[in-house]
Amino acid sequence: MTRVFSGIQPTGEPHIGNYFGAMQNYVKLGEQYGKNALYCIVDLHAPTNPAAYQPELLAERTFEMALANLAVGLDPQQVVFFVQSHIREHSELSWILTLQTPVGELERMTQYKDKAQKLESTPAGLLMYPVLMAADILLYKADTVPVGEDQTQHIELAREIARRFNHTYGPTFPEPKAVYAQDALRIPGVDGQGKMSKSKGESSTLGLFESLDSIWNKLRVAPTDPARVRRTDPGDPEKCLVGDYHKLFSDDQTILEVYDGCRTAGIGCIDCKKRLMVGIERTLVPIQQRGAELRAQPDDVRDALEHGAAQARQIAEPVMDEVRGKVGFLGSRR
Ligand code: ATP
Ligand code: MG
Repeated sequence: MTRVFSGIQPTGEPHIGNYFGAMQNYVKLGEQYGKNALYCIVDLHAPTNPAAYQPELLAERTFEMALANLAVGLDPQQVVFFVQSHIREHSELSWILTLQTPVGELERMTQYKDKAQKLESTPAGLLMYPVLMAADILLYKADTVPVGEDQTQHIELAREIARRFNHTYGPTFPEPKAVYAQDALRIPGVDGQGKMSKSKGESSTLGLFESLDSIWNKLRVAPTDPARVRRTDPGDPEKCLVGDYHKLFSDDQTILEVYDGCRTAGIGCIDCKKRLMVGIERTLVPIQQRGAELRAQPDDVRDALEHGAAQARQIAEPVMDEVRGKVGFLGSRR
């Protein structure tokens, strides 16, 4: 039996990297696996990065991230969709897995190194992030994890954690595998400074709910292939983030024309970006409209999350009972 699990952090505005790298796959796998597809807004993860955490914003961001997933087409009646902190067992299993995880393995995680290097003082929670992530997946005995390519190392570690637990306590967890969206493995930030990330702030992201004017303002000044100094210089669209974005948003004919135009200097960068805007508008306008409808009915979003939590609990509680027994806790007679 396949069981799918994935989580998304409420650390800021959802962006096109989240959409193409992860959220679209949630919808697709949800249609295939129904109640065996579990998706979670991972609010326990969000405060691990102090650079992106404000207590007064967390609840609102959690709500907004839930709304965004519904706006892109996730059906909360079809899948199990919930908020991580509503299920206490995530924290409990995370602690048990922490007991067996070598600190050295956690210190090797590149996301940890990237985020920690920007902080004056590193909270232990940032180091433990991948253990909590492993707990999220294993709590539901999930074997399939739709994520962007930036999560590869964390999924490898989750496999290692599952193996270690099974070795110590007997077969319990499947070893989870990552599945990726084609063409959207790692979407670059519009500022040209590495991957698009919520926590890097709005200069890196094109938001799902961002106005088209604001998107154009960022795109207009976005770096392109540095070899194209003058309009007449040929460029390489494979080395240009606008080229990458066309693959996400544009139809085949447009992609062919702008790629060819770039290589032969037949199209300038600004015109190429304008053509990209057509695809962006086509993709984002319906999502933004659906988002506005949902925002007018906030109780529906909250009800969907309650319903999802009740279903998630039904899977998580017996797994946690099994784990407690295997680890050797006395157990409560409640
Ligand atoms: P943060 O900066 O807080 O880590 P994020 O933008 O990286 O935020 P996450 O909540 O960490 O988003 O990740 C949610 C999902 O989106 C994950 O599956 C992740 O792999 C995917 N994802 C995030 N950024 C990208 C990107 N630039 N390209 C493709 N997938 C991405
Ligand atoms: Mg991230």
